[in-house]
Amino acid sequence: MQRTVFLFAVFLFISGCGSTGPLDRYTCCRQQPFGTPTKPGELRVTFLGNSTLFFSDGEEHLLIDGFISRPGLLQFVFGHIEPDQGRIHAMLERLDIEERSLKAVIPVHSHYDHVLDAGEVAKRTGALLVGSPSTLTVGSWSELPRSQMRNVAENPKLTIGNYQLTFIKSKHAPAGPLRQFFGGKLGAKIDAHSRPPLRAGCYHEGVSYSVLIEHGTQRILVHASAGFAEDALAHPDYQADVVFLGIGGLGQASPAYKRMYFRETVEAVNATTIVPVHWDNFMRPETPGLKPFTPLFDNFHGAMGFLVEQADTSPNRTLIILDSWEQLNLSRLSGRD
Ligand SMILES: [Zn+2]
Repeated sequence: MQRTVFLFAVFLFISGCGSTGPLDRYTCCRQQPFGTPTKPGELRVTFLGNSTLFFSDGEEHLLIDGFISRPGLLQFVFGHIEPDQGRIHAMLERLDIEERSLKAVIPVHSHYDHVLDAGEVAKRTGALLVGSPSTLTVGSWSELPRSQMRNVAENPKLTIGNYQLTFIKSKHAPAGPLRQFFGGKLGAKIDAHSRPPLRAGCYHEGVSYSVLIEHGTQRILVHASAGFAEDALAHPDYQADVVFLGIGGLGQASPAYKRMYFRETVEAVNATTIVPVHWDNFMRPETPGLKPFTPLFDNFHGAMGFLVEQADTSPNRTLIILDSWEQLNLSRLSGRD
């Protein structure tokens, strides 16, 4: 009985009484012409909610995370989760991926809201699954052969098709014991002997990475979790034009933490464009009109307010927020190519 009351309290805590305001509040960050036609070879990215990002140059594609199933709150709290084959099929159809054109699926760490579907997506498309040993455990559940997986602990630099990838060890955003119980432990590996369906809390972090993507003259950093390893990105080789910056939990952090996070990520790599990720309620489908979590669970506007302030005070920096399925032409952003 006590356990039920506890779980119900958690349910209320997470679900709250509705969502906060729409993206229209951030007109300053919605000025880009999304979805404009692209020339062959231009690199674009499609935002698919949370930190799932589909990069494409029209010929070869990369998928960060590939988290598609997005199980609902009740299933997250009370149930066991596994890839939703119907949703995966529908998304891959809509992305219109030709045979073998998806080169890699890259979960940034192994919590379920990043890794859950990665093995299935790799299996269906023939893409490589790239990540930590915990991520590869998830790949083994989809019976991927070893030849279709890359362990970045052994190979932090990889060239895959038209893309060069560098994996830089990072640190996950801080998470209290309740979040770790329900959402997976920090610093722990996924148990290789378990099999889905599993509690969401069985998908442990593994290792968190920042991923530097180089494509032609484009340099993009995906930093999806709002934590940082001190000075990890302060290296001349890690400069990037654009940062996809995780802001989950950032709004609840202290002003000092927010400033430090910004310094250790955006400023460390000298990025001129910031695109927030990991801001939407990933327990709802990824249909356009994404909504943040309730303020009881996360402070989306606190994080966005901070980023708007930072962009306002540095004229060379642009902040762009994407709704799901919106596409950004990265080649035109930086004025290159
Ligand atoms: Zn996580």
